[in-house]
Amino acid sequence: MGRNIVTPNIDSIVSLAKRRGIIFPGSDIYGGLGNTWDYGPLGVELKNNVKQYWWKSMVQQNSNIYGMDSSILMNPKVWEVSGHTNNFSDPLSECKVCHSRYRSDELIDPTKCLKCEGPLTPERQFNLMFKTFVGPLEDEAAQIWLRPETAQGIFINFKNIVNSMHPKLPFGIAQIGKSFRNEITPGNFIYKTREFEQMEMEFFVSPDTDAEWYEYWVNTRFNWYSSIGIREQNLRLREHSQKELAHYAKATKDIEFLFPWGWGELEGIANRTDFDLSTHDNGSEGDLKYFDQIRQDHYFPYVIEPAAGVDRTVLALLLDAYDEEPLNNEKNEVRSVLKLHPKMSPITVAILPLSRNDLLVPKSKTLFERLQNQFKCSYDDAQSIGKRYRRQDEIGTPLCVTIDFETVNTDDAVTVRHRDTMEQERIPSDNLVQYIQDQLDLYV
Ligand code: ATP
Repeated sequence: MGRNIVTPNIDSIVSLAKRRGIIFPGSDIYGGLGNTWDYGPLGVELKNNVKQYWWKSMVQQNSNIYGMDSSILMNPKVWEVSGHTNNFSDPLSECKVCHSRYRSDELIDPTKCLKCEGPLTPERQFNLMFKTFVGPLEDEAAQIWLRPETAQGIFINFKNIVNSMHPKLPFGIAQIGKSFRNEITPGNFIYKTREFEQMEMEFFVSPDTDAEWYEYWVNTRFNWYSSIGIREQNLRLREHSQKELAHYAKATKDIEFLFPWGWGELEGIANRTDFDLSTHDNGSEGDLKYFDQIRQDHYFPYVIEPAAGVDRTVLALLLDAYDEEPLNNEKNEVRSVLKLHPKMSPITVAILPLSRNDLLVPKSKTLFERLQNQFKCSYDDAQSIGKRYRRQDEIGTPLCVTIDFETVNTDDAVTVRHRDTMEQERIPSDNLVQYIQDQLDLYV
């Protein structure tokens, strides 16, 4: 079965996501809050699949990568020393007539408003960190920031991890968590929001090996996106020019996806040198040098950082998997289907009795309870079987299991229907668990 050639319109994804319980507009019943989104029952499964698979490939499968989970709220000195308080900003200009706001570096003509062509104010730096207050008094002393990245939580725990786990270089520290940025131009659904989730790993290496580890992580992370089913034609690597490089980075490559509005970043891999450890060492009480027992030397390791976005990966998965296929039937129907990799699908197996019949329902429920222990399952007996297949196609369920009268009266076999080919097979229900497992194993 072919895959779509045209990247789908973002509106079809937004409406599918709402209709099918994947992602809802935030604060909906109060008229919404711009650019906030809530993950529904199926969306949270998809998002968890992304996070769990990242954790498995980074932490579980690498004995030298350690996981952690740091606080969102940190001592404000962390952000002063890291440079965020002064430098974590984007250039902002505002229209003097209609007051529309722009990120000046995104404008082709930074003097004219895109909406009303009015004159724009000269650009000023706008800090993207969200300010908040600890305790009841809103005074300066109690002012802190919501973290704009998870990385600093890792650097400030470097010594704790070295002292407790005694890792040898090279080793990594990984974490997944929420970050907050008061973006000037949020938008494009969950692509750019003010609250989002990151999956970041800081990989510490001896300074003479940084170039090779940088290449290693660029390739490994690029291949990871193929391994979750995103087609390579929609992925590319883009190297940052010298001008674009962050002040702490020696080299950076972005992994980009072809969104409907053009190429956009999913993940950045940066060679951050020893910038972070040495600045925190200078600015804090901590001694962040690493003692290399082989060399008998104290030094700051270099850091290679793959920093990815959970929400952008979810969006790329939805866009890449979405397909509309003519069914070539009398009604000229078109089915919409999410051809997700089964390990990303919110539901792996749907159990569908042919009808709401007194014989079929109990049999189906027993089967559902049995399969639920091994796979993510859903049970659905509402409406016609055709409509239920369409519903499962739209949420990307790779396998549907149908229980009919033959199952209960004659052969105790069920019909397994495959999402991508729509082919159906009859399988003895005793062999079903093994059969499903074999089908999932076919996907690498
Ligand atoms: P961009 O330039 O696209 O805003 P960035 O280069 O500032 O992103 P990084 O600081 O490298 O992003 O953050 C790592 C990852 O976190 C990004 O590749 C992206 O997937 C995700 N991310 C960053 N900002 C946002 C945001 N506002 N909304 C959703 N995801 C984000």
